[in-house]
Amino acid sequence: MHKNMFASDNYSAVCPEVWQAMEEANCGYANSYGDDDWTARACNALRDFFETDCQVYFVFNGTAANSLALASLCRSYHSVVCHEAAHIETDECGAGEFFSNGTKILLVPGDKGKINPDAVTHTVNRRHDIHYPKPKVLSVTQATELGTVYTPQELGAIGDVARQHDLRLHMDGARFANAVASLEVSPKALTWQCGVDVLTFGGTKNGMAVSEAVVFFDRSLAEEFDYRCKQAGQLASKMRYLAAPWIGLLESGAWLKNACHANRCAQLLARELESIEGVTLMHPVEANAVFVHMPESLVAALASAGWHFYTFIGTGHARFMCSWQTREEEVRRFGEELRAIAANCPAEEYGS
Ligand SMILES: *Cc1c(COP(=O)(O)O)cnc(C)c1O
Repeated sequence: MHKNMFASDNYSAVCPEVWQAMEEANCGYANSYGDDDWTARACNALRDFFETDCQVYFVFNGTAANSLALASLCRSYHSVVCHEAAHIETDECGAGEFFSNGTKILLVPGDKGKINPDAVTHTVNRRHDIHYPKPKVLSVTQATELGTVYTPQELGAIGDVARQHDLRLHMDGARFANAVASLEVSPKALTWQCGVDVLTFGGTKNGMAVSEAVVFFDRSLAEEFDYRCKQAGQLASKMRYLAAPWIGLLESGAWLKNACHANRCAQLLARELESIEGVTLMHPVEANAVFVHMPESLVAALASAGWHFYTFIGTGHARFMCSWQTREEEVRRFGEELRAIAANCPAEEYGS
């Protein structure tokens, strides 16, 4: 068993459908910088996927996708309102602020990793004077950083509050496929129908090697986005290799198969973890992540047995993630090993 398989969904390899699409694209010559048939076909596949005439760009990673998207919605004196656990705040090294030349991020709280619309109103209305960075964008993450999902109703309320305060709505969809799989609704019902202006749609964690799509539902906001990509070093010259993976995922339906599988494995993993005395779920498991509170001694025992998982949330907290590649029997075998390790944890330390 690979003892790092639950560390993150980006520890996974490339799924077969993507690999095959890459191989098909790997023939002969194609125009560079996105002026090729694969890119056109991938953009059309995304338009079909969202059932709307959106504008699409492909970049190398999620940090670039988010920060360039936000930069296109803001001027330097604006601000972006997001949840305090948002990836753009905690995990992008200030790239959003950098690419927008100083746009400030304003944090709002909310249960289970989800923005509380009233907190947005409070933050926007706190000040209206010239000394406060003018709120211009509301950014939500779907599925959230804590492995939960916003329902269409919750997103509708988020869209309403954004409109009410004249905020553009950005969605960080690094795990958008997992959210669609979890909610069993159409992609459009979670995006433009709720007022999302721009989505960064993650390919990497869904089974690609690289590539994230920046999808503008309001095409006017995409003006000169190609220049932004180029200046940021995000315009791939052999663009077909960032585009073809989308053809592989979308046309085959693998995007949904992969996401459903990862979500199902997370449910199974949650049951295995919960079966251990002293281990409790921190958040509802609604996508492909399982967050648990566990005795510090068990965290240490798992680590010394070689298991690699994230504990960045604090002591006695651990995150386990599943992907398209997780195998159900491996989840069960992990459960067995976990029970054996827990049984051997010294009683005086256990639970301390
Ligand atoms: C993984 C992830 C990203 C993208 O991260 P990169 O490492 O820059 O590709 C963005 N948002 C969220 C919520 C993520 O989990």
